[in-house]
Amino acid sequence: MDAARLDRVRAAMAEQGVDLVLLSVGADLPWLIGYEAMPLERLTMLVLPVDGEATLVVPRLEAPRVVPRDGVFTIRPFEEADDPIEIVAGLAGPVGTVAIGDRTWARFVVDLQHRMAAGTAWRRASTVTGPLRAVKEPAEIEALRHAAAAADRVAADLQGGEIPLVGRSEAEVSADIGRRLLAEGHGRVNFAIVAAGENAASPHHEPGGRVIRPGEVVLCDFGGTFFPGGEGAGYCSDITRCVSLGEPPTEVAEAYAVLHEAQQAAVAAATVGTPCEEVDGVARTIITEAGYGDRFIHRTGHGIGVDEHEDPYVVGGNRTPLVNGHAFSVEPGIYTPGSWGMRLEDIVVATDAGPDALNRVDHTLVVVDA
Ligand code: ZN
Ligand code: ZN
Ligand code: ZN
Repeated sequence: MDAARLDRVRAAMAEQGVDLVLLSVGADLPWLIGYEAMPLERLTMLVLPVDGEATLVVPRLEAPRVVPRDGVFTIRPFEEADDPIEIVAGLAGPVGTVAIGDRTWARFVVDLQHRMAAGTAWRRASTVTGPLRAVKEPAEIEALRHAAAAADRVAADLQGGEIPLVGRSEAEVSADIGRRLLAEGHGRVNFAIVAAGENAASPHHEPGGRVIRPGEVVLCDFGGTFFPGGEGAGYCSDITRCVSLGEPPTEVAEAYAVLHEAQQAAVAAATVGTPCEEVDGVARTIITEAGYGDRFIHRTGHGIGVDEHEDPYVVGGNRTPLVNGHAFSVEPGIYTPGSWGMRLEDIVVATDAGPDALNRVDHTLVVVDA
């Protein structure tokens, strides 16, 4: 466990009047103690009071996977016949305000709400952990840089024509990209969107049996997570590049030029002190003024770390000013239903020396013969 992170969580709890944090499935727990809860019907839960010792309640059979940290948290294994809800409620005691991990399964939340005192106030743990996780420490930025460089190498394969496209299905290319992400050091593949031609107009298109044809633009958006420990240290990559199989039609080339300009301008605007929504606004204004405003149908970006999507969100309404260490994607897109779609995505870190774009691979619409 990172004792410094635990101290920061406790300080934020005290500041927000949170007496107890309960963390289960999701990225908060690995970020805090280096252990990821199995998404099981058996409960794993860190019980973290604002004062006093933290306890990890864990099924007996999972306990061997927990690296003990003496003086930081106690491991409380439970047997198959035990009731972990009772154990957590007992450790919690009577408590005023509980913040529970956002991804905790509803069955456990409901059971805990029944078991704990009726007057207990419940809120999401992300109100405590989100702003802390969003600001990366130097080692976390290096891990993100390592992950981004690995994703860049796969994108370079794509742009270099080393990943066969024409005649293969989107699903085959997706699997190929996934294998390359693993070969470049990722521990797992989180997604590998491959969207050909008109399918790219759906930003989160599910790659399927659709065969890629000559002359099409193919959108590839992929990322994974490095294993904890070692370089990459449990952090995520996420990149989008589009390639064109042959010279793109004028309409597509013109739109891509606007997209490219918007993305680079938004990256350049991501300076310390700039509100997140202003970074979104920079990309959106360029795209809107070129006449594509109604085809840019999502926010400009999301934070990234141990989770693919976390704070800070680069979206209208988020007035949070960027601080040194905020890491997030900048990924505007233009989508024309029935015809084509395009997106350009880098991971960027706001630093006192200016925006640091971690993805460096070619940003143009590369023409490939593959
Ligand atoms: Zn996305
Ligand atoms: Zn992406
Ligand atoms: Zn993304």
